[in-house]
Amino acid sequence: MPLPPLTGHAEIRLRLATAIRTGRLPQVLVISGAAGVGKQRVALWLAQLLFCERQDQEPCGSCRGCRLVDGLAHADLHWFVPVPRPKAGDPDKAVDEAAQAIAEVMEERRAKPLYGTPDGMASHSMASVRLLHRQAALTSVEGGRRVFIIGDAERLVPQESSQEAANALLKLLEEPPAGSLFILTTVDPRRLLPTIRSRAVPVRLGRLSDEQVRGFLAAQMTPALAPGALEERVALAAGSIGEALAAGEESARAYRSADQLLEAVLAGPAAGYERALRQPPFSARGEFTAMLDALADTLGEAARGALGEATRRPVPVALGRRRDPALLLRAMERVAQAREAAYGNVNPQILLAVLGEELAEVL
Ligand SMILES: [Zn+2]
Repeated sequence: MPLPPLTGHAEIRLRLATAIRTGRLPQVLVISGAAGVGKQRVALWLAQLLFCERQDQEPCGSCRGCRLVDGLAHADLHWFVPVPRPKAGDPDKAVDEAAQAIAEVMEERRAKPLYGTPDGMASHSMASVRLLHRQAALTSVEGGRRVFIIGDAERLVPQESSQEAANALLKLLEEPPAGSLFILTTVDPRRLLPTIRSRAVPVRLGRLSDEQVRGFLAAQMTPALAPGALEERVALAAGSIGEALAAGEESARAYRSADQLLEAVLAGPAAGYERALRQPPFSARGEFTAMLDALADTLGEAARGALGEATRRPVPVALGRRRDPALLLRAMERVAQAREAAYGNVNPQILLAVLGEELAEVL
């Protein structure tokens, strides 16, 4: 799978391309901007531009250098991402472990280039920075420049520990090897050590326009989003493709949860109780209301199906057998009432138990 196309940031791209052409590209950059606006994608774009054989304003996309970056397979491109802290006590073994973990993430990204936020516990540990030192000390494989991307660079300083990893990185940035480029990306440059910041030239990415987010989602989402869902997603994204994708995951979770509830209700009382017991507490009220919205939408789809209209998404099999639209509409009313009650200070678990019983009666 090739990298998703880089969307927006035209001015920054022009500035960086001009800097390369005039030989004034700094050796250390810190790209900052809101989550999901494409910081690491811009870093990859810059790597591609440096490795491109055409030497133009934009990577050509078809030469060997461009194709290798596109497949995350360029030997002189080193992309560091936060990974779980290695368990090995021996420093060399810990470096091997970090290298393995990073390689696994790269493998995932080759298969699925649209990725989410790394796990909250993942970081750039001392082992990752040692690995970076090791790679930086080698010579170029392709004979040209070498690019090191350090994504989510604020994770160089894990909460509980010392600044050992950040300081070790600093040593490298103070005297970067000839021909190397270091690109750190972060949502907040103030979370980097001031000494690291002072070594780097800042590049600030703004939010994308709604038009750009819409264009990206329309071209990249499979299956394609229905027009209403697309607009909703654009509104939630607030100029961030990452946010748009995360909203999609939240919504998928809400639909899964709604389907499970319906299946339990339709399977009879015993299964319904079991489901109530298994139900993990909703971590946020928003998650609960999102599930109720998904529930109403699913019942609406089933009603549409029962009326012989085309449905936009599959409904649980057992629900698809309910052929009476009046019953389905009554069930939707019950969900709407629960949705109202959810605005008040009602415990979601209790609300859900009551709703489950009501749905079981109606359906
Ligand atoms: Zn090229």
